[in-house]
Amino acid sequence: MPLAPARYGFAGDHTGETPAPTSNALTTLIKLDSNENPFGPSPHAIKAMQAVLATCSDYPDDDASTLRLKLAEHHGVQVEQILVAGGLTEFLGMLARAFLAPGLNAVTSQRSFIVYRLATEAAGAQLIEMPMLQDGFDLVGIAAAVNCNTRLIFLANPNNPTGTMVTADDIDHLLESIPEQVVVLDEAYYEFAQDFAARRGITYSRSLDYVRKGRNVVVLRTFSKVHGLAGARVGYGVASVDLIARISRQRSMYCVSILAQAGALAALEDSAHIRKAVENNTHESQRLYRALSEIGYAVTPTWGSFLYCDIGRGASNFAEQLRVEGIAIRPLDQWGAPEAVRITVGTPEQNDALLRAMTKLKNS
Ligand SMILES: *Cc1c(COP(=O)(O)O)cnc(C)c1O
Repeated sequence: MPLAPARYGFAGDHTGETPAPTSNALTTLIKLDSNENPFGPSPHAIKAMQAVLATCSDYPDDDASTLRLKLAEHHGVQVEQILVAGGLTEFLGMLARAFLAPGLNAVTSQRSFIVYRLATEAAGAQLIEMPMLQDGFDLVGIAAAVNCNTRLIFLANPNNPTGTMVTADDIDHLLESIPEQVVVLDEAYYEFAQDFAARRGITYSRSLDYVRKGRNVVVLRTFSKVHGLAGARVGYGVASVDLIARISRQRSMYCVSILAQAGALAALEDSAHIRKAVENNTHESQRLYRALSEIGYAVTPTWGSFLYCDIGRGASNFAEQLRVEGIAIRPLDQWGAPEAVRITVGTPEQNDALLRAMTKLKNS
């Protein structure tokens, strides 16, 4: 998709949004604005990518066969049910081109992942965004918005940027009411949500069961979040053989680099790195939630690796002030929430710095 990265909402430092702090230019910016893994890539992934550097004069395996085989084993599906792309951003573009066209539409919620709109509009179609209930999805409203021109329903679960989750039972009901259209279950934060749900005694997702039963769903997962490979660009979708064949026709050749394939394969095996990221997130998000609430910010309980926070004043200005303190967070004006920000859960040290700065700004 030929879209400017600055609009993606989770893009990194290169967006040229606000300049880095000048007051203490020697300190490095603490990046809590793009939901990246605060611990970096899996060390095994770094080694694996280093090991293939010298083979980068060759084209990559266009089928990503080894990676797809491993993912198929991992999820208990056929290899033909997996499609790997250069990140989910690219996958969403393929989905939109495969199913949408002028006169057709996709349905999602307001304040959800910004790429749904970009991909839908790039395909010349319309995105219908239903209002939220509190900060979560109104699945009844979403089902009611589906009409004869609807081809896709996009559900980010947990949702970015609000961090809310819909349960497996909620999705069961939704699927019963929309048997025809393709439902896209974007589980970019799967591991984080699964850990919260297990601790809270809730069933988060049966997404892959739907696929195994031949339901009309596409499950999306990425290596950008828990695996810490956002810069390598690799993510994948799981669906029926027919759906995957149809989406594959929109794929560009060689779109998953040798480095991305090697890094993803190694990251998938590095359960220690995954556990470290998930445990840090579970504990630190709860600590941040309590501390920020105490300071007087309105925080939404999260199921992801970030917090949605209503700060009760202009978010862009607030984010600029925080940046002077050396911390980047995401103001959510573009999501229609001019007084809300999204804060990625960092390491304990980064979160301490965030709390100091947010306390200072509250009192200023
Ligand atoms: C971060 C994120 C993605 C991942 O996008 P990539 O292109 O794979 O980096 C997908 N969906 C949601 C909801 C996200 O927040």
